[in-house]
Order: sequence, then structure tokens, then C-alpha cells
Amino acid sequence: MSDALLVLNTGSSSIKFQVFRLHDDRLERQLKGLLDGIRVHPHLQVKDAAGAVRVDRDLGDHVDDVGAAVEQVLDVLEDELADGGLAAVGHRIVHGGQHFTGPARIDKETLAGIEALVPLAPLHQPNSIAPIRTIMKRRPGLPQVASFDTVFHHGHDELVDRFAIPAELDEQGIRRYGFHGLSYAFIAERLRAVAPDLAGKRVVVAHLGSGASLCALQGGRSIETTMGFTALDGLPMGTRPGRLDPGVPLYLMQQGWDAGRLEQMLYHECGLLGLSGISNDVRDLKKSADPRGQFALDYFAHRIAQETAMLATTMGGIDGFVFTAGIGERSASVRANVARRLAWLGMKLDPDANQADAALVSAPDSRIAVHVIPTDEEAMIARDTLAALDLPQRAVA
Ligand code: ADP
Repeated sequence: MSDALLVLNTGSSSIKFQVFRLHDDRLERQLKGLLDGIRVHPHLQVKDAAGAVRVDRDLGDHVDDVGAAVEQVLDVLEDELADGGLAAVGHRIVHGGQHFTGPARIDKETLAGIEALVPLAPLHQPNSIAPIRTIMKRRPGLPQVASFDTVFHHGHDELVDRFAIPAELDEQGIRRYGFHGLSYAFIAERLRAVAPDLAGKRVVVAHLGSGASLCALQGGRSIETTMGFTALDGLPMGTRPGRLDPGVPLYLMQQGWDAGRLEQMLYHECGLLGLSGISNDVRDLKKSADPRGQFALDYFAHRIAQETAMLATTMGGIDGFVFTAGIGERSASVRANVARRLAWLGMKLDPDANQADAALVSAPDSRIAVHVIPTDEEAMIARDTLAALDLPQRAVA
């Protein structure tokens, strides 16, 4: 009997994937892979759990779209998992709209529901659908599960999720959904293990990766988040602006910009890259002697602090703060910069613990406990996959 779960996280130019081995009492990470450069210079690398490279190859010019990329991943896994193959596949799906309130086993109806949301996420949702269709065709009997980035934010108060626009536009689905939900669900669960006394209180989680957002957790549930209708809102990110006066794109349209040009600018040319003119990577900005690098980092920290205060208002206070994802887990200087700006709220770091990327980085006399918790969206998708297939839940080892 096959006993491996494949987790797919598909973007427009890359597929990240992991294979988990299903044991009676746990899920064990077996393989991690990345196929990137779809259409341009496709390359596939697969490592085992210890980090040893098992496959590392250019794929020539055979990978013109996401579907073809999935075929390549399945080919490689058939070689690597010679002992029976896959039991199920879990997909990260960007948008679950208002309809999906939990992970869902994929059948015709689920797929139609996911496809109906393409207009709300035209850039991202099609990348989630192509792999599902490819696998349905190639392995029709293989169970597939949709794990949504929006679900964790479901059930927010109307005050939080509405835009102040005419009701008929709201009825078309133009409202706040929020993203990074798999990461926040994972952190909420980890928090119960690492800081049980804090887990039931008021916590802001900062997911700071190439995309960035904050989530207000109250009693472990999402109360509000900074991303909205799309993943453009809220914090500035690597190449996205975050909060922006809607009059700006309107003005640019009046200047003759079309939707394609606006989209390119808003998704790829703004944020840390646009502010600095140097790079979207925090490490490059930190190293640069150009003052625009530090300006971009200060801007980032300033906006994180501002939005934290906004979320604290929604929760009526704040007891804890969690940094996660690439920047949150590894940049002591970004964490210190944010904490300085939130000193008035009672946030104070222990400089040595912060420098060491320790699990608890706040000083003993800080009013706000500050944790660093590595996120694991793939583990969450694997567990969603078990849940949707009615299999017993297991911890990820
Ligand atoms: P993604 O959203 O693509 O999954 P990650 O969560 O891996 O991204 O975060 C990627 C970002 O993390 C990079 O853009 C980089 O700025 C930042 N990063 C990675 N390592 C470090 C580091 N050691 N110090 C500061 N920033 C880092």
C-alpha cells in the first residue's frame, strides 16, 4: 500500500513540493523539491530530509507551462518513490472565496468552485488549477485535496471584512479575504505548544517573506489581517507596495496606463525594490552602502509597527508578537527596528537573544512577549490533506 503524501505549492514560474511518509503515529518529511524557471530555464532539484541532493538537472525546453512542470515532478517521483508511489496529493490554493471554509477533497464540484474564483485571483488561481487537472488526467484515481490560504481568516466580523463601497459590489465578492492563512494556522498551533499561556491571548503574527502580512490572533483565531481583496494590500513587500491610495492607479490609468502595465508595476516593481532601487532582498539592502537601502528597511519596519497598532486596536490590546517566514525568522535587524517603533506599546527585545534568532527574543521586562517561530505551510497542507480524506491526524516529525 502506498504511503506517501505529495504537497504541491505552485506559483507562476515555480513549483515547490514536498513528500511526507505516512507512519501510524506521524508524518515524516522525506523529500523536498523545487522546479523553477518554468518557460525560461526550467531546473529541478530534489533533496532528501537530511538535505542531500538526490536530483539536480536542467529540463531543457520541455516545460512551457505549469501542467508540463507537474508532469516532470511526477516522473521524478515515480523513480524516487519506487516502493508504491503516492497515496494522495495536497495542493495549496490561493483563494477559497466565501464558499470554502475548510480543506476540501477535490471532485468535479470542488474544482468548479475553485475555477469560479479565477476572476477574484486571475494571476494566481489558474496556477493552482493546472496541476489538479494534470494529475486528474494522469492519475485519475489518486485522491487530491485543496488547502486554502484564505480559510483561516473565514468568519471575521463584517466591520473588518467590508470595504466602504456600494453593497452591490460587496455582493460580487469585492471584500477582504486575507492570505498566508496556512502559515498563520500553523503558527497558532505551534504557539499552543511553545507558549500555551500566550496562545489564548491577543497576539500579532508577522509573516515576513517575499510576501508580507500581519494577522491578529485572538484565542488562536484570526480576527483581522492586513492583506485584503488581493495580496497587494497591507504591508510593503519585496516587490509589492502594500497599502496604496486607490487614486494612484486611477491617476495612472488616466495617464494611459493599461491593466497589464499597472499589474506589472504593482506586483513586480514596488516595495523594497521600488523604494531602494537596489534589491527586493533584505540581505542586499542591509549590505548596501546606498542610503536608499536603509530607507527601504526603515519604511518596512515603520509600516509593520503602524499596522500592528491597528490590529491591537481591533483586539483591544496586545500580549504577544510572533515573527515568522524568511525575514521574520532570520533578520535580527528588522526585528530590532520594528521593536524600537513599538517600544511605546511595551515591546522590548533582549539584544543577544534577538541576534541569535532565539525562540523567545523579548527582554524579561517586556510587556509584550516576542517569539520567533519558523513557519511550515507544507506541514499544514499535509495535515489538511489527512483531514479532508478522513484519515487520522498525525504530527509532523
Ligand atoms: P517566500 O515568500 O518566497 O516563501 P521566504 O519566506 O523564504 O519567501 O522569504 C524570502 C525572503 O527572506 C527573501 O526575500 C529575503 O529578503 C529574506 N531572507 C532570507 N534569509 C535572510 C536573512 N538571513 N536575513 C535577512 N533576510 C533574509
